Amino acid sequence: MKKLEVGILGATGMVGQRFMSLLEHHPWFEAVWLAASDRSAGKKYADACNWRLREAMPAAARDLMVHECKPGKAPQLIFSSLDSKVAGEVEKEFAQAGHVVVSNSSNHRMEPDVPLLIPEVNPDHLAMVREQRKQRGWKGMIVTNPNCTTVGLVMSLVPLERAFGLEKVLVTSMQAVSGAGYPGVPTLDIMGNVIPYISGEEEKVEREAHKLLGKLTDGHVAKGNFVVSAHCNRVFVEDGHTEAVSISLRSQASLEDLIEAWRKFRALPQERQLPTAPKHPIIVREERDRPQVKFDVNAEHGMAAVVGRVRTCPVLQFKYTTLSHNTIRGAAGAALLNAELMKSEGYLD
Ligand code: NAP
Repeated sequence: MKKLEVGILGATGMVGQRFMSLLEHHPWFEAVWLAASDRSAGKKYADACNWRLREAMPAAARDLMVHECKPGKAPQLIFSSLDSKVAGEVEKEFAQAGHVVVSNSSNHRMEPDVPLLIPEVNPDHLAMVREQRKQRGWKGMIVTNPNCTTVGLVMSLVPLERAFGLEKVLVTSMQAVSGAGYPGVPTLDIMGNVIPYISGEEEKVEREAHKLLGKLTDGHVAKGNFVVSAHCNRVFVEDGHTEAVSISLRSQASLEDLIEAWRKFRALPQERQLPTAPKHPIIVREERDRPQVKFDVNAEHGMAAVVGRVRTCPVLQFKYTTLSHNTIRGAAGAALLNAELMKSEGYLD
């Protein structure tokens, strides 16, 4: 099969580098066009990018020229990992010019005609792009994935919501420094420290969980029928967001029921065997001290939510811990899976 050529906006950043790495051996897509800020435009990728991943920079990427973020010569399919200060306008400009923009940035996520997708959770929301194109009169489209903290939480919630109904969710995150991009949080601020504030993060987690678990009717998503409260903290971890979650459910369930619901959870990406889909989207660890970033962050190539420490909660009903990789499942891998879903649904033909 001839691979589909793709472009990456923000290719030099933390998430952009993940895109380059995940696309290196991708069976459907090939990165051929890169763009970033004026600081990088006009340079070869190897010169513009301060490569921070343990995996080597893909050889084919080294000599690719970095362009300005202007539509025109870019391929139809564009992944965006732009700084949110500029992503809003730039992504709109690309969609207006006919590009399919699959974005990581928060700018368009909550717009009523923009799908906010986790392919295992709400693949039907992709249909919102029909309304988007009609309303905005453009040939392109914008599709988004959630914030890196929302993903692991909502993946762990969806089987419980479907089987027992969700009533209340309380989540406390311990978020890795790579979630703040590069160079991110200054060493002197984070070393030996926990910072109990990440600008805008708690609001994003709360709003996005409602949109993801909400029902799509007549082109509009109604909020999910539960309350959610988030506490977000930055910790001295490189990659991987850990979340302590307490929940109340609407119908009777036992600890074993929760574990069974997680273990048997499979969805469209698994049925269709999409290239980036994890075989087991949720992994349950039974050891009393797991999941841990050190051992579990790369489970299923960084695409799984790893759940553990399931127990009863004297305040709400149950509590557990979930862990997911913030720049893979929470960013570049999430966007790739969105694009794979779109291709399998005929949106990229
Ligand atoms: P980052 O490391 O700071 O990278 C930002 C990228 O945007 C770089 O390629 C940078 O290019 C480019 N950029 C900055 N200013 C620009 C401008 N004025 N014009 C054009 N390009 C510009 O950030 P990141 O962590 O990769 O995050 C990228 C996006 O993904 C953000 O919107 C973020 O909120 C979102 N996100 C991040 C994560 C995560 O875990 N890190 C997870 C989910 C979503 P230069 O190198 O040329 O400056």
